[in-house]
Amino acid sequence: MKINIIQCKTLLTKSRLPEADYCINPYVGCFHACVYCYSRFMKRFTGHTERWGEFVDVKINASEILEKELSRNPKRGVVLLGSVTDAYQPAERKYKITRAILEVLLRYDFPTSVLTKSDLVIRDIDLLKRFSDCEAGLTITTLDEQIAKDFEPRSSPPQRRLKALQTLHNSGIKTYGFIGPILPELTNLESIFTVLQGKVDFVMTESLNMKCGNWENIRSLLEKKYPHLLALYQARFDQRYWQQIERKLKGLSGIFRIPLKGFYQH
Ligand code: SF4
Repeated sequence: MKINIIQCKTLLTKSRLPEADYCINPYVGCFHACVYCYSRFMKRFTGHTERWGEFVDVKINASEILEKELSRNPKRGVVLLGSVTDAYQPAERKYKITRAILEVLLRYDFPTSVLTKSDLVIRDIDLLKRFSDCEAGLTITTLDEQIAKDFEPRSSPPQRRLKALQTLHNSGIKTYGFIGPILPELTNLESIFTVLQGKVDFVMTESLNMKCGNWENIRSLLEKKYPHLLALYQARFDQRYWQQIERKLKGLSGIFRIPLKGFYQH
């Protein structure tokens, strides 16, 4: 793993995601190296020759740049921390870039949403609690430790993510479970809704995106570990398939009384 220290020129970027006005990515690249990661398209803008997951650039001056940007009084809006990286990947333990960014966002009272696959997020409960508008989400694609290890080899295991959600929720922070990407035949939606009860205020969900250079990695994993699913995934999943999933999600949301805030389809 190659870790570089870089100076960024800008940090706050306008978001095209429906739930956020801005995005902040404290790092370039992501150690978590999820097999299905579609942020890997970012690699071509970085000049890196290493594989996605094998480099991380640390934006060492991120909080100073953000301070400058916010002092210019931009329109207030929701900031998503971590749209093409994980703000709580292992480098954060040492560099604390995300923590410094949160301190600035808190000073300017910007509504903030954090999404991660790491239980390191609980380190920052003291800050998250002080926001007037803040939410923290943990991605749960599966509860099966082996499937998680196969698809998300370097993230916190599902049980640790659930524990983090519980700790955040018990601390009075608004929490959400991000069920995404939904892995056909592998993501058990019923069991995820069951365990999210009492830990989250809402769920957000996302279909599997296989259009961003991640298919080769998915295919190779399926060949090795899930050959019975290879033909199914090769045939891809059409709109009708995802419409069925959406109906199922709505049903589960009603049964478990956990609001469904969004289902992003690619
Ligand atoms: S945690 Fe997110 S950004 Fe990082 S590799 Fe996984 S999917 Fe990609």
